[in-house]
Amino acid sequence: MKALEEKILQEGEVVDGDILKVDGFVNHQVDALLMEEIGKDMAEHFKGQGITKVFTIESSGIAPALFTAKELGVPLVILKKQQTADSLKTEVWQTEVVSYTKDTSYRLTLAKNYISDEDHVLIVDDFLANGEAATGAIRLIRKAHATVAGLGVLIEKAFQPGHEKLESQGIHVYAQASIQAFEDGKVVF
Ligand code: 5GP
Repeated sequence: MKALEEKILQEGEVVDGDILKVDGFVNHQVDALLMEEIGKDMAEHFKGQGITKVFTIESSGIAPALFTAKELGVPLVILKKQQTADSLKTEVWQTEVVSYTKDTSYRLTLAKNYISDEDHVLIVDDFLANGEAATGAIRLIRKAHATVAGLGVLIEKAFQPGHEKLESQGIHVYAQASIQAFEDGKVVF
C-alpha cells in the first residue's frame, strides 16, 4: 500500500537492528486518516469471505482493526494481554505468547462469550515478525472451534519467518507493506 510505504519511509525509524519504530503514526500517536485508509484497503482485500469478526491484539492493532471492522460491518474483538479484575469473573480462553519487542511472554486472553463455533475470524495486527502473536490468536480461535479467514498486517518483516510459518499452516497472509531488509538503518521494500 503506497501511502503506508511512504509514511514508513518518511517517519519510520530502525532501532536495535531489526525493529521499526512507528510510534508517530501507529503505536503511540495514531494517524487516524491513514488508519481509515488502511482499514478500507484491508476490508477490500478480505471482503466476500463471510467474515463475522475482526480480532486484534492490544494495543497497537486496535486502530487499524477498528476501521477494518467498520468497513466489513462486523464487531472488533480485542485480545487482552493482561487480565483485568472483571475478566477474572468471566470464562476465558487463554494461551501463552512470546513478545517480540519485550523479550517476555504474556497470556493472551479471550472471553468465551465473544466467540462461537460459527465465527469466521480475520486477525489484524500492526506487525508480523516471527508470527508468535498471530499464532497465539489462531490457537484461541481454534480452541473455540471457530475458523480463521486470514491475517492482515500493516507491516511484515519478510526477512523474518512469520509469513512463511503461517502460510505453511494454510493461513492466508496479507501484508500492506512488506519489508525485505533494513540496510544501514534504512527500510528496503
Ligand atoms: P511476532 O509475534 O510476529 O514475532 O511479532 C509481532 C508483534 O511484535 C506485533 O504485534 C508487534 O507489536 C511486535 N513487533 C514485531 N516486530 C516489530 C517491529 O519491528 N516494530 C514494532 N513497533 N513492533 C514489532
